[in-house]
Amino acid sequence: MRCIFCLEERPPSQEHVFPRAIGGSLTIDRVCDQCNSELGTRVDAALCDFLPVRARRAKLGLAGNSGVVPKWYEIFLGDATLVGEAAGRIQTTFDETTGKLTSRQLHHAENVERPDGQKVRQITLDPRDKDQIPKIIRRERLRHKLRPLSDEELKAESKNFTERIVQAPIIKKDLQVSFAYVQHALLKIIYELAFLWLGDAYLDDPLGLKLRNAVMSVDLDSTKPYEGNVFEANNCAIFSNYWTPHEAHHIAYSSVLPGQIVVAVRLFDLYAAVVVVSEEPGRYFRSQADMAKLKFLAIDSVSKKMVHTEFAEERHRLAMMMTEERRRPPFTDPL
Ligand SMILES: [Zn+2]
Repeated sequence: MRCIFCLEERPPSQEHVFPRAIGGSLTIDRVCDQCNSELGTRVDAALCDFLPVRARRAKLGLAGNSGVVPKWYEIFLGDATLVGEAAGRIQTTFDETTGKLTSRQLHHAENVERPDGQKVRQITLDPRDKDQIPKIIRRERLRHKLRPLSDEELKAESKNFTERIVQAPIIKKDLQVSFAYVQHALLKIIYELAFLWLGDAYLDDPLGLKLRNAVMSVDLDSTKPYEGNVFEANNCAIFSNYWTPHEAHHIAYSSVLPGQIVVAVRLFDLYAAVVVVSEEPGRYFRSQADMAKLKFLAIDSVSKKMVHTEFAEERHRLAMMMTEERRRPPFTDPL
C-alpha cells in the first residue's frame, strides 16, 4: 500500500478521518502506521484537547484514545487570579465526594501604609485558613529578621484581623490556546477526504502536494496560507445556509466549480473549513459519471451513525424539502 502522507510503500493501518476522540466513525486504510501515530499525536490530539473541542467532548461523553472522557470542570481547576480590590491568587479543586468545585484564596502578604502613616505587613488569606495565622505571622517575622513574638504577643496579633466578603467575585484565568491547532487538524481531514473522494490521482495533484506538506510539517506556521479558509461554524454560510448546526454532528461535502474542486468540513457546530483542493477538475471529472465522486458526509459523533452519499443525492433531498414541503433552509442534516 502507498501511504497518502509519506507516499512510501508500507503496511496499512486504520486511520480515522475525523479523530476517534471526536466520534469520527469514517476510516481509511491508506495511511501507514508511522504517519498514523505521528499525525495522531501531533495533529489529532491537539485538536481533541483544544479547549472548546474538549469541553464539547465532555458534554457529549466522547472518550479519547485512552478511553477517558474529559471532565466538564477541568477548565476551572488550578490557579487563577481574583480581579479587583480583593486581588490575589485563587486555587480551585474538584471534590469527588460532593461533586463540587472548591475555590480557595491562597495567602499573600504585602506592605501597606495605614492612614496614620504606620507601615505594616498585611496578610490576606482565606477565612477557612484562619488557624494558620500564627504560623504565617511567625514565618513573616522570621523572613524580615524581626524578633520572634512571645506566645502571648502572637495570640494577640492573631486576633488582629478583619473579615471581608467579596460579593460576586470575578476570577481571571489565563489560558494559552492557539487556533493554529484547529486549522492544522481541519486541513488534515480535508486532505484525507479529498484523497478518499478523488482517488489515487490526487496524490500527484499540485494543490494536493501543498496541502500534504502543510499537514505533515511540524511547524504550525505551515498552515498559515490557509488562515482565511477556517472559520467559526456560525460564520460559514456555505453550511449554515443549508444545514442547521448540530452540537454532535460533523458534516462535509465536495463541489466542483469552474477550475476548482472544493472540500468543505464542519466540525460540530464549532468550526468549519472550506479549501480549494485542486485547480485541475479535468483530472477527475471527464464524464457525467465522474460526478459521482462528489460526496456528502454526515457523522453523529455520539451514536457513530454515518451517512456517506453522493452529493447529488443530498442536494435532491434538500430540493425536495423546498419544493414538495415548501420549507425554507436551513434543514437538519440527514442523520
Ligand atoms: Zn506514511
